[in-house]
Amino acid sequence: NNRDRIINLFDKQLNSAVELFHYDDSFVKVLKMHDSEIIVNFPVKMDDGSTKIFKGYRIQHNNWLGPYKGGLRFDETVYLDEFKALAFWMTIKCAIHNLPFGGTKGGIKFTPSKYSEEEQKQIVQTYCSRVYKYVGPNVDIPAPDMGSTSRHMDWMTSKYQKKSSDNLTYSAFTGKTVSFRGSEGRDRATGLGVSYTIELWFEHILKQPLKGKTFIIQGFGNVGSWTARFLTDAGAKCVALGDYTGYYELTPAFYKPMVREGDANPFNAVLNYKTLACLETTYPGIHAVKQEDFWKIKADIIVPAAMELQIDRGVAESVHADCKLVAEGANGPLDSGADEVFHSRNIQVIPDVLCNSGGVIVSYFEWLQNRTNEYWPLARVEAKLKEMLSATFFKYMRTMRQQQQQQQQQHQDAVTGAGPQLSLPTAVTSRNIVYKMALDNLWNSYEIKK
Ligand code: GLU
Repeated sequence: NNRDRIINLFDKQLNSAVELFHYDDSFVKVLKMHDSEIIVNFPVKMDDGSTKIFKGYRIQHNNWLGPYKGGLRFDETVYLDEFKALAFWMTIKCAIHNLPFGGTKGGIKFTPSKYSEEEQKQIVQTYCSRVYKYVGPNVDIPAPDMGSTSRHMDWMTSKYQKKSSDNLTYSAFTGKTVSFRGSEGRDRATGLGVSYTIELWFEHILKQPLKGKTFIIQGFGNVGSWTARFLTDAGAKCVALGDYTGYYELTPAFYKPMVREGDANPFNAVLNYKTLACLETTYPGIHAVKQEDFWKIKADIIVPAAMELQIDRGVAESVHADCKLVAEGANGPLDSGADEVFHSRNIQVIPDVLCNSGGVIVSYFEWLQNRTNEYWPLARVEAKLKEMLSATFFKYMRTMRQQQQQQQQQHQDAVTGAGPQLSLPTAVTSRNIVYKMALDNLWNSYEIKK
């Protein structure tokens, strides 16, 4: 079941890095623990006058690097262990860039589209009141995630401001609308980051042009739709899309009208937050395929940008032999079996905590802007996002190279008898390396603070 699978997944990812790079036992023990698991139940009056009970979560994992940071997921399927995994990944995600934040995740067990605007407002504001004493600009800063929007953030911010009697406290939430002191570019930040890390990977690791490559994306919410748009701008071509409403192959007919109108990027149209089923009725050249066939479609790049545990061993084995790169737009989309298969098939993986970190990076920029009252234009936000992603990416490349050299040396020494007899070096994965980068930063502050 998914509950066990998701806990297993992050535990395995952490263990794998710990075994390779040897961290202090107590440090690892504390990292496996969540600081607080906050669960609240609350009543809300519905439009028809009836009362409904809702369940909300805020799971705070670790705050050695700074206030807890992480999104709010609104969906009727959410569960405690999912938040535990997502909160843990936020700690790692913030730590790889050394952002001044720890990791948390939360949400409400409800699907917003099933409620009226007014009901949604009441639900999220009541949640905000209930977790009020556990959040705040220096304590825990929520942001959007699956199912939650910038409007929801605005409503909760205004509730927070009323309760704190400080109506200037905008930095309690990020991902707000721009007119309510959100940051320019926060809407597209995750997708831009996904597409930019793919560009870096092609240029510096695969050493091939991204231009002309094909990609498929699972998930067409905020992350998937912006990624499709940016990858298309970079000269790559989307050949298939899938979401919870359906899986589709895009034929040349899909691109024809756009090219005729002089706009080669169909994703420039306002497709954000629309479902694919709705895209199918609007555009020609879209053919429905079965979900299991979707993953087999010939493409150079696969972007799972929906949710966790979407690709297991079997799916990973079925992926087309031409696939070169899997870019994790979602959090935890591959289970550990899939990770192993891609590794053995020599298909590279950009780990989620790096690949989709554009969102939290621009959240950090929003928090800074709110605190300094100095607002940045879009071009500055995008440039600074790319700067931070490249810095971390090049650090990743250096760390990977060092590890490979070190392992080769140890192996050589063992062969020539100059060093201890070691088993053959185990190849380190990209995920091992980003975990090492995060754990090294976390270790620094743990050691000083413990
Ligand atoms: N929910 C997003 C994530 O998973 C963004 C979190 C944030 O901006 O704080 O990374």
